[in-house]
Amino acid sequence: MRIDTLRQQLRTLGAKPCHEARILRAWAQVLPLDGGPRPAQHFLPQAVRTALETLQPQLDGLATLKSEHPAADGASRLLVALSDAQTVESVLLPRGGLCVSTQLGCAVGCTFCMTGRDGLIRQLGSAEIVAQVVLARRMRAVKKVVFMGMGEPAHNLDNVLEAIDLLGTDGGIGHKNLVFSTVGDRRVFEQLPQGRIKPALALSLHTTRAELRAQLLPRAPRIAPEELVELGEAYARATDYPIQYQWTLIEGVNDSDAEMEGIVRLLKGKYAIMNLIPFNPVDGLPYRRPDPARTAELVRSLHRQGILTKMRQSAGQDIDGGCGQLRARHVTLVRR
Ligand code: SF4
Repeated sequence: MRIDTLRQQLRTLGAKPCHEARILRAWAQVLPLDGGPRPAQHFLPQAVRTALETLQPQLDGLATLKSEHPAADGASRLLVALSDAQTVESVLLPRGGLCVSTQLGCAVGCTFCMTGRDGLIRQLGSAEIVAQVVLARRMRAVKKVVFMGMGEPAHNLDNVLEAIDLLGTDGGIGHKNLVFSTVGDRRVFEQLPQGRIKPALALSLHTTRAELRAQLLPRAPRIAPEELVELGEAYARATDYPIQYQWTLIEGVNDSDAEMEGIVRLLKGKYAIMNLIPFNPVDGLPYRRPDPARTAELVRSLHRQGILTKMRQSAGQDIDGGCGQLRARHVTLVRR
């Protein structure tokens, strides 16, 4: 289901923009529709009130909790069932954050990611993306939403932008607290600046070498790392928030001194934060996590050279931490 379709349905039933906003706000923020000084039955057209009786269970069924897997770091992975019984993952992050999925599977096929192994299964509708936030808000407050779960948001751009628009308006989440994460796609740089809600941007760089990037991210658009950083810099300056560069750190693949020099060459003087994320080992993938001492040394070295660098762990890594691992295990169990 798309939010635009939902809006259209409400309008056809006679809802005015203020009715529509109140209904969507109540849904996205998990507020009682009958609360406040003017309960819904006093101001909504009768046809809308009647339709809500069937619409509400439909909205509730868009994302339901299949299982929850709390981790030692305060994160909690959620296996979420969609209305067609497919499953995606969301992650409750510490300090009111939530990571949501935007696609079932992913076509980019990053060689270090479980989600990419089976390719794209289907797109998530904008309402299914927001429904993950609604589900999480029923469990606890959500103040920040990062679009970093299963899928490449740029490959489902209309739905993701629609979800961002609702979350940044009636959903009550600040623009900087909506984080669009992408491997880099020209449509993102064209369309994000046009929206009334301008999310923060995270760019998955992973290497400064174009040929290695083409191997690690085989179906990402071929944009040279230098150009990607230039496009990111233009967006950062236009929105006044820094780009978060994501770098999954893999031993012997992209943790060399030459790569670190490449980062300094590309990012020095840029409005940027470099996030080094040590690879989370996955059965069946031929990669290793670098030694923690080596990772700490890289962070210090980049800092010394003027690059604002943070070491990030993938949230909840002690419980099938890599994106897509929880779903993969669930699907395996169901198929057995
Ligand atoms: Fe897709 Fe992200 Fe996995 Fe790459 S890392 S395959 S873009 S979900």
